[in-house]
Amino acid sequence: MNNTGKLILVPTPIGNLEDITLRAIRILKEADLILAEDTRVSSRLLKHLEIEKKLSPHHKFNEHKTVSSLISKLQQGFTIAMISDAGTPGISDPGFLLTRACIENNIEVECLPGPTALIPALAVSGLPTEKFVFEGFLPQKKGRQTRLTLLAEETRTMVFYESPHRLAKCLSQFSEFFESDRRACVCRELSKMFEEIKRGTVTELHEYYTANPPKGEIVIVVEGVSKKGK
Ligand code: SAM
Repeated sequence: MNNTGKLILVPTPIGNLEDITLRAIRILKEADLILAEDTRVSSRLLKHLEIEKKLSPHHKFNEHKTVSSLISKLQQGFTIAMISDAGTPGISDPGFLLTRACIENNIEVECLPGPTALIPALAVSGLPTEKFVFEGFLPQKKGRQTRLTLLAEETRTMVFYESPHRLAKCLSQFSEFFESDRRACVCRELSKMFEEIKRGTVTELHEYYTANPPKGEIVIVVEGVSKKGK
């Protein structure tokens, strides 16, 4: 154990297990403690990596209660690695709360570069990548319409996470709140066996996914509003 502790956010694969980095494997082997969003999910990954370590649960239902004891462990010199079920901790996943608490307590935080769903989706979309906004999951009920109204003015490329059963509804709302010919890209099951990338207008994509209800995990990338059109 070091004299000063450190929190290390460790991204894990979003589908293809080959996407774990060599550094992530080493950090997971060396950490004094590994926090996992779902210990059953992460223990399968650790088994695959041949890492025998006990995992501590750290998820949205207990993170408020465990922060102070984790801070005290870090102050004692622990190196704590944090993983979520998939991708980068803190990105639509637990991680922010403990990161903020570490910063407030002058504890070092590091995040390894690695898998996350939003970046490959943006890069493969063919839409402008120079400037973009990550919107994560839109509110499901309250606040959804307000958010969509606000985003209708957004000029940067937008990246959304969405569940498969809400995809068609979401695309129909994009054509209602934005323009029907706004270009978009739906990325399904990135890095997995049935990866699918569909590009088109929000209307075309709505028609396609209404006729072909999707399964799996989804990122939607939507172009920003054209300044000329405004
Ligand atoms: N921490 C993760 C990250 O860094 O991307 C995100 C976790 S969030 C709870 C899960 C959402 O991420 C899914 O509903 C989907 O929108 C997106 N996602 C995760 N894996 C994906 C994949 N393989 N293909 C497409 N989208 C994915």
